[in-house]
Amino acid sequence: MERKRICPRCGSTKIIVDAERGELVCSECGLVISKGLFLEGKDWRAFSTEEFIERARSGAPVSPTRTAYGLDTKIAYSKGLSGRSMRMLRRTKKHVRSRKEKRVMPALFKIRAIAERLDLPTHTVEDAAKLYRLASSAGLVKGRSMDAMVAAVIYAACRRTEVPRFLQEIASFFELTEKEVGRSFRFLFRKLDVRIPPPKPEIYVSRIVSKLKLPQSIVTKSIRILRIAREVGVTLGREPAGTAAGAVYLATQEEGIHRTQRELAQAVSVTEVTVRNRYREFLEKVKPLLEKERLEKEKKEEEIAEPVSL
Ligand SMILES: [Zn+2]
Repeated sequence: MERKRICPRCGSTKIIVDAERGELVCSECGLVISKGLFLEGKDWRAFSTEEFIERARSGAPVSPTRTAYGLDTKIAYSKGLSGRSMRMLRRTKKHVRSRKEKRVMPALFKIRAIAERLDLPTHTVEDAAKLYRLASSAGLVKGRSMDAMVAAVIYAACRRTEVPRFLQEIASFFELTEKEVGRSFRFLFRKLDVRIPPPKPEIYVSRIVSKLKLPQSIVTKSIRILRIAREVGVTLGREPAGTAAGAVYLATQEEGIHRTQRELAQAVSVTEVTVRNRYREFLEKVKPLLEKERLEKEKKEEEIAEPVSL
């Protein structure tokens, strides 16, 4: 089996080594991964039940009951009900459930199929399914394009589970525009009472680095800058694309690579002023801590290198 390092949170394979901190970090969501957490192959995103894992391995079709996504569909016996009313209750509930299931099933299958192609982790897929059911129960999907709704819940689930995927990326899988999916997304989540956090700035780092053809070391440094920034509360409430651009700008300065603030601003469609402001904040609050980390590491290395006196 092919060995592949996969981020257990977002499913990204872009795992980088931060040698200075001695850590393995996901360059897309910023998660610090320890070696023991690595999972291989298919297993990491298979669904939780043994049955499903078996089926996924053998390539057998997934049974329609799996669309229940682990929800308990059994009705328990309640005290005080006669056998006859119990049977009736069960029949009614079963009927209602199956009608409801039938209605959401095509969408849930679509979520599963797209999730596989987008390499989404299990909990993200389950969240998307949950959101779709919620939207369906609230009567929000009726008479609307299923694809746009499915794309919208997948995007929402990615945000909720901190999986770095762009709206445009998801929309293109459905051959929809970013605008169309964005409209469905806003329609759904204005009405549904669910929390959708802003995307993390880390998601923009690889994009900036590849657009400006910067070396991989800039990714490592930028991710570290963003982590320290989060620890000291600098990123709080900031627009993520601008925050990322500011971090990359500081990283290029540190590495002696010349890129203008304007180039960085253009890479993520923010203003130069935003990049400058974030950079200034990082310079004041993050750079001293970067420096401290570097000195501590040097000190440790000196201690190791020092010969033992007899
Ligand atoms: Zn990740």
